[in-house]
Amino acid sequence: MTTATLTPTAIRNFIGGNWRNADSHDGIELFNPATGEPLGRSTTGSAAEVDTAVQAAHAAFPAWRATPAGDRIQHLFRLKNLLEEHFDELARLIVVENGKTLGEAKGELRRGIENVEVACGIPVLMQGYSLEDIAPGIDELMVRQPLGVVAAITPFNFPVMIPLWFLPYAIAAGNTFIVKPSDRVPFAVSRLVEIIHETGLPAGVVNLVHGGKPAVDALLDHPLVRAISFVGSTPVAKYVYARGSASGKRVQCQGGAKNHVVVLPDADRETTTKIIADSAFGCAGQRCLAVSVTVTVGEAKEWFRESIGAAAGSLKVGNGLDASTQMGPVITAASRDRVVSLIGQGAEHGAEPIVDGRAFRSKGSFVGPTVLDGLPATSPLMETEIFGPVLSVVHADTVDDAIATIERSAYGNASSIFTTSGASARKFRNAVSTGNVGINIGVPAPMAYFPFSGWKGSFFGVMHAQGRDAIEFYTDKKVIVERWPKEWSRKF
Ligand code: NAD
Repeated sequence: MTTATLTPTAIRNFIGGNWRNADSHDGIELFNPATGEPLGRSTTGSAAEVDTAVQAAHAAFPAWRATPAGDRIQHLFRLKNLLEEHFDELARLIVVENGKTLGEAKGELRRGIENVEVACGIPVLMQGYSLEDIAPGIDELMVRQPLGVVAAITPFNFPVMIPLWFLPYAIAAGNTFIVKPSDRVPFAVSRLVEIIHETGLPAGVVNLVHGGKPAVDALLDHPLVRAISFVGSTPVAKYVYARGSASGKRVQCQGGAKNHVVVLPDADRETTTKIIADSAFGCAGQRCLAVSVTVTVGEAKEWFRESIGAAAGSLKVGNGLDASTQMGPVITAASRDRVVSLIGQGAEHGAEPIVDGRAFRSKGSFVGPTVLDGLPATSPLMETEIFGPVLSVVHADTVDDAIATIERSAYGNASSIFTTSGASARKFRNAVSTGNVGINIGVPAPMAYFPFSGWKGSFFGVMHAQGRDAIEFYTDKKVIVERWPKEWSRKF
């Protein structure tokens, strides 16, 4: 069944418990990436809309913060159940606006729900610690308190999961929250917020403001916003980090990526090829953990070149709602044109397209899977985040040379090695400067109870998304030193 489940609709903000039409619809035209059908027009957002949302969140904060943690998480238990109930509906919405396959959309939702589950542990996770008699009769304790109004600015490639990297922890810890989703995928997150509203959360605890740069700037500058979580491309991540920090906020920014996998000659050929193909072409390469460059070592060069070509060439590309589809389109026609042009540049720089997706034609914004063999180290493409279904294959003589290739990258989101040698794997995981590392894993996506890491140009900040880092990020530590001399007490 490939019928769209989304009809063109106005984009509405959710502020202080009410849905309100956006002030204007002056943003970009939105299309179903698989069919080209129009879905509506986004909004750029405004400082006035952001201010209304911040004021609503600020007003809701004192009562929400005073609500016992055990009561706050009851809303998350309800949310978990509602998300399970609406699982298929949400997954289909993601497919229609983003283009990924239904299986990928379900995978995204599952990982989002995991964060709701982990945040239900907040009564334990948020505990501080204490020590009696740090000096005679004096005790010291540390308690964690919520910050106040916090906001998340999220990208197009995981419309529901990435808001859920932040929202459950933020509100479970007693903060009030504003999400500013990507203006390219406003619909599934709107449905998510409707579902959140059904949990009976007090008005103003969760707010949704659509928009682009004007909305982002207003959040970054607003004096009542205490913290900003951002996920998106590196240039915008740097901008958000600098501007948000300059206005005194706590900021965490997860940026772009250029991920490498290393294939050693002793790797299991079949599983390695299958896993790398899934990593490179899954979600049409629009995952921040997608492999972009495979470095084959020694004699892995010949067999991998052949097997990855066969795997890429056999993928079924189409509408993600069709159960047989293995790869969907990229997000927009502009994105397709950019990816096609970058493949052309790779060929001009001397790479051989052993599978070439440029010729793929359809109504939607499709590029077929592409494998570029032998891209020279000097090509700027080695450092360009293509964010499409394009895998470069380069060669190294030794594992040390392969690691050196990774180390030259300005990014540090993820890297993986494929080998049956424990010693090589251990050397690799110890040496590489990436925040997420896979050993015979193509997409080393951390579970919700681990931080979603990222180093170098892929992350700006200290605390990452998810798990214990999220608790650190969304709470301030208060340290209390107290003395209660006996002689001050009435005798009973
Ligand atoms: P993007 O940077 O274009 O947009 C991200 C957010 O910033 C959106 O909400 C968008 O509206 C806003 N924005 C865009 N341009 C802006 C500007 N000039 N000023 C202020 N705000 C602006 O990213 P995208 O294209 O939506 O997402 C893809 C990118 O996200 C890729 O680079 C990918 O690697 C990255 N990503 C990273 C991670 C991670 O965990 N490191 C996860 C997912 C995606």
